[in-house]
Amino acid sequence: MNYNPNNIFAKILRGEIPAYKVYEDTQTLAFMDVMPQSDGHTLVIPRVAAETLFDLSTEELQSLIAVTQRIAIAAKRAFHADGMTLMQFNGSAAGQTVPHVHFHVIPRYNGKSLQSHSRTMANNELLAQHAEHLRALLNP
Ligand code: AMP
Repeated sequence: MNYNPNNIFAKILRGEIPAYKVYEDTQTLAFMDVMPQSDGHTLVIPRVAAETLFDLSTEELQSLIAVTQRIAIAAKRAFHADGMTLMQFNGSAAGQTVPHVHFHVIPRYNGKSLQSHSRTMANNELLAQHAEHLRALLNP
């Protein structure tokens, strides 16, 4: 594995750049996607230095998917979603733009298509509001 420790999620994990965090534990961090494809779009990452899903041990993947499920359940409720899309890309050919493994948790709404991937920055205040709303459900 050729992990680049200067990728943006590694910097978020080290606290070098800010993020709208919604949940963290010893192995995992979840925060709002700053270019959301729908309202409430959240990212879930492991703390371990891993570029793709294939670089995780079975145990690391199990804890990541368990937290992803928990975030998805909370986000569905928090954002009154009709459905939830979970996405995960491995390698630039597959659409991965940040080389630290992550799951996308994306609330879906009837009749509403997704915004483009990694395209438009959301309003900071709105992201902060969404994070606070989701945090309240995840960390009561
Ligand atoms: P992927 O293309 O699957 O690697 O997804 C990377 C995601 O990270 C995209 O949806 C981006 O909008 C998102 N993103 C990029 N930089 C940041 C950041 N600083 N904070 C939160 N999300 C980010």
